[in-house]
Formats: sequence, C-alpha cells, structure tokens
Amino acid sequence: MSEDSTAAAPIVGIDLGTTNSLIAVCDARGPRVLGGVASALMPSAVRYGSDGEVCVGARAKLEAAVFPERTIFSSKRFLGRRAEEMRAFSSAQSVPICEGPRGLAGFAIDGKCVLPQDVSGAILRELRLRAEAELGVPITRAVITVPAYFDDAQRQATRDAARNAGLSVARLVNEPTAASLAYGIGRGTQAGERVVIYDLGGGTFDCTLLEIVPKDTEVESDCFQVLATSGDTALGGDDIDRAIVEHWLAGSTVGSISERMQLLEFAQRAKCALATEVRVDEVVVCNAIAKALSLTRAELDSIVAPFIERTLVCCRRVLADASIAPKDIARVVLVGGSTRLVRVRSEVAKFFGREPYLALDPDRVVALGAAIQGAILAGDRRDLLLLDVLPLSLGIETVGGATAKLLMRNTPIPSRASEKFSTSKDGQTSVKVHVVQGEREFIEHCRSLGTFHLTGIPPMPAGIPQLEVEFLVDQNGVLSVRALERRSGVAASIQIMPSFGLTEEEAAKMDADSITHARSDMRRHRLTDLRVHSTLDIKWIAEALARVRDALDGAYVADLEQQMVRLTALCVEAEHTPDTVDPEEFSKLKQALDVSSVRVHEVAIAHSIRGGSIL
Ligand code: ADP
Ligand code: MG
Repeated sequence: MSEDSTAAAPIVGIDLGTTNSLIAVCDARGPRVLGGVASALMPSAVRYGSDGEVCVGARAKLEAAVFPERTIFSSKRFLGRRAEEMRAFSSAQSVPICEGPRGLAGFAIDGKCVLPQDVSGAILRELRLRAEAELGVPITRAVITVPAYFDDAQRQATRDAARNAGLSVARLVNEPTAASLAYGIGRGTQAGERVVIYDLGGGTFDCTLLEIVPKDTEVESDCFQVLATSGDTALGGDDIDRAIVEHWLAGSTVGSISERMQLLEFAQRAKCALATEVRVDEVVVCNAIAKALSLTRAELDSIVAPFIERTLVCCRRVLADASIAPKDIARVVLVGGSTRLVRVRSEVAKFFGREPYLALDPDRVVALGAAIQGAILAGDRRDLLLLDVLPLSLGIETVGGATAKLLMRNTPIPSRASEKFSTSKDGQTSVKVHVVQGEREFIEHCRSLGTFHLTGIPPMPAGIPQLEVEFLVDQNGVLSVRALERRSGVAASIQIMPSFGLTEEEAAKMDADSITHARSDMRRHRLTDLRVHSTLDIKWIAEALARVRDALDGAYVADLEQQMVRLTALCVEAEHTPDTVDPEEFSKLKQALDVSSVRVHEVAIAHSIRGGSIL
C-alpha cells in the first residue's frame, strides 16, 4: 500500500464489548458510528460452522438455539485468562471450555481448541469489513477499548485479536476514558476534576473514577488517570431479562429451551420499550398454552431495584477506595445499554447528587470516544476538544416554524438562558419542544438537535399557561434543555451534544448563509409573528363579541368585524403567499384592531365581573 493511501485511511475506533461490539470513525463529518442505524450494534456472537464457515453478529445470535455447541458468546470474558479460572463460567457457555497453550482458556469445537483471541478477532474482522464497505477505503489501524481493570495478559490478548483481524492497534484505550473523550472531558481547563463512569452493559457492571491530570503528565490517553475501579462481572442487562422471566413464571417451570429463549427475548424487548412507554403487552406461547404477558414501568422498577443497589455498592467502594465524597465528583457519565433504564438514571442521579451525562447514546459513547482518540492520534481533529464558545446559536422552534434563539453564537461557555412562552391552542395539554441550532430565522434552515414533549399541562385557554424553557450549556458543551409549566409545575428535559456531527465547514456555511439571507429571513419572521399574534387577537375578540354583542353599538360592531375580516385575509395571504404581503401594512392593520378592540374587551370584562364568572 502506498504512503498516500495509508494517510487517507482513518484510524477507526472500536468498542469490543462483551455483549455488543461497534465501530466508529471521526472524520471531517465528525464522530459517528458506522454500520447504519439498525446494524450498528453488532452482537458479540460467533458461530464456527461444520463447513468451516465463520458467522458473526446478529445471525449467529439469532441461530444460537439451533447451533448451541458451535456458537460462542462473551469471548471477551476469556481473553488472556487461564482455563482453570474460567471453569466457573463454563455453565453459562453452551460450548465446552478447553485448555489451550500455556493453560489459557479456549473453546472446544470439532475437537479443536479455539482461542478467545480468534473469536474476538473474527468480531473485529467483521467490523473492519463493514467499515471498509461503508467508507470505501482500506482500514489498517484502530483504537480499541478495553475495561480499565484489564491486566497485561488481557490487553495482550486484545492486541492478538486485532492482529488476527488484520488490524494494528494504534492504542488500547480504557473504556471509561473513551466515554469521557466522547463528551470532551479532559480539556486543559478541567485538570484536577474527578469523573465517575457508570457502565452497566449486558453482562457486566463497571464503575471507574478518573482524575483529569495536566496534559504534560505521562499517563494514558494524555490526561486521564484511573483513581479507583470496581465492578461486578456477573451483573448486567441479561440478569435483568432473566429476573423478568422469573417474575412472569412466578415459580412455575418452562418446558423447552426454545420457549425459555422466547420468553427471554420478549423480556428484553419489554424492558427496552419501557424506556419510553409505561406498559407493554404481548401474547406468547408457553408450555403449549397461549399466555398474555405484560410488564409495567412500576413492575420493572421493582425488579431492577436490587440490581441497581448492587451497582451502588460498587460505586460506594470506588469512592471509599479513593477517599472521595460524592460531592467531589465533577461529572457522572452513563455508559452501557442498561443505563437507558429510567430507574437507573434516577437512582444514579440521586446517589451522586447530580444529573449524569446522557446526551450521547450510552451504548455508542465508548466507540465514539475511541474514534475521537483515533482522529487525534492521526492528527486530524485536535479542534474537537477545544470548544470555548458556542459555534452557532441555540434556540427552539416557535409557532409557524420560526425560531427563538436563547443562546447566541459566540457566547462563552458555560452559559445559561431562559425564556417564557405560552400555548397557541385552547386546552392544549402538551407542547413540543424542538431544539435547533443555527443563525437562520426558520427551522428548515437550522440544524435540528432534538425534540421532547412537555405533557400533563392542565387544559387552559391559549396563551394562559406559563411555559419557561431553560438552556444550560456546561463546560463540556453539553446542552441541557428544561421546560417547565409554572402554573402546574410539570417539567420535562433533554440533554444534547450540539457539537456532534457538526463540522467546522458546516458551521461556517450556516453562519455565512445567515448573513446572505438576513433581510428575507427577518421579513418572514416578522410576518410569522404578526400572523400568529393576529390570529390569537381575532380569536379573543370574536369570543368577547359573542358574549357582549347586544351591549355594543351596532356601527362599532360592524366596523370591528370588517377589520377582523381584513386582518384574517392578510393572515391567510401571509401564510400562503408571503411575498405579496407588505409587513408594514399588516402591522398597521393589526395595531388599528388593537385600538378598536379595547372597547369590546372592556365591556366583556365588566360583563363577566357582574355575572360573577371571573376567577
Ligand atoms: P456490553 O458493553 O456488555 O457489550 P451494551 O452496552 O451493548 O453491552 O449493553 C447491552 C445491554 O443493554 C443489553 O442487556 C440490553 O438488553 C440492554 N439495553 C439496551 N437498550 C435498553 C433499554 N432501552 N432499556 C434497558 N436495557 C437496554
Ligand atoms: Mg460496553
């Protein structure tokens, strides 16, 4: 391979997980996981077929029940470990454990001893091939992540696995360090800060306490030092799935392996769905009888409670080992698919007394961080870690597709801003908060960052609810958006990393566009505001008029109605053919109606006080 093509090939980042593995890259388009939305998480399952075929990933997992004696899960657990140490785990494996060279653990298939670095190597190779197909360049170098507690033998076995996959290891990075890098933690200004990484995956739990040390100190990945680590190698999402099945069976036994697998599969699906739903139902066939199964959020919460308590025991131990109190922790980062559990999030927040970082997908954050480390090693993206001002304004969508900016471009971070809004429809019980980034006035020209719903608002007339939206960007550029309805106290929030997926060129273009289009955007925004406010005005006047028409002078009413008709027509025109509407004329007409309608509102108020309907 020529010098040039090596230079063009990126150093990818790989999260070689016990349950799932994934590959990511960080190039001019920013850090991203490869392999498409559906296939990005590849199950760490490998089948060695009798014909010599090696099948990796989703298919191997799916067909495991058919080929139990040929399918290997969790090879990571065995890397660099001795066979005698691993006997305890042999019951969890359908493939018998054997002893390879130097007493190392291996898997007995077709009378041969397959080593875990061959199995993990097959996973790495599959990831490499997928990434090459997507990027269209050969990939030879990777940053691979390993648990912080991996010893030399386990790290060496990981390197061997990479070599078997045709990859050279640019660096092995600790998983908690990679997760921190993904959040931009560890910039020079944060030296001395302590970060806890809470990682609850499929089969293991790890809690790691890192300290950020000044760049010039010789420690791994430049500036992260592991102060303490603890965990449980037999605690994860799989245990939760089994506990859910136990809850359903309530002591009774299941007939066949395939029925049990079906139950486990539904348990996992129900568990995941409960991240957003409050109840899940399904009918499954169990012991040849159709059974209606359901799981509620409350049931799941009580099933997971003892598991969470065990993780917190580890967290307590980590803090005690380092003689550090929860209040001395600057940041808590959530990693691993199981931290999507609502209860995990709330308990961890309670334990550490702060909101954990969860803006990035917890099952992708390690791979993203590894990719960032790869880009830094390749000398491509130093800028990623340097974010001292907001590169683009941050705001939300308002009625009519316009934007309201809460934090302006070039605002130094950390920073905070809030603004008040209300509803636009009567009896509206939920509002959508759509967070956008960019300088333009309308959302179609901005970048959409995320959406959430504030629900449970008591029905009130339009304009009465007091909605407050707060933006908080912290030192790492993590944006927390919170919406609150003051009268009822209902609140909802979201966390986002606005810098993700945004390249410098894009930011520059978005900024330049805003200048080019400033005039037309302003005009359109003004028209939208006029239209929205006029529509509400007209609605209120019509309502007042309906109540007190008889108490008013006929000529006044006729004039008022004529103005309302003209303004309504302008609203319609502004919506459909905005170019033909003169904002000045529109504004004048609206102001005229404001003045004329004072009387009808006065009479209506006097009327309702007399009628006793106010309050
Ligand atoms: P590992 O690091 O062990 O490879 P992952 O971080 O990929 O594992 O986590 C996999 C686990 O996350 C599985 O047990 C899966 O059931 C669980 N998981 C994924 N999504 C959710 C969710 N929405 N709610 C609860 N658990 C989830
Ligand atoms: Mg993991």
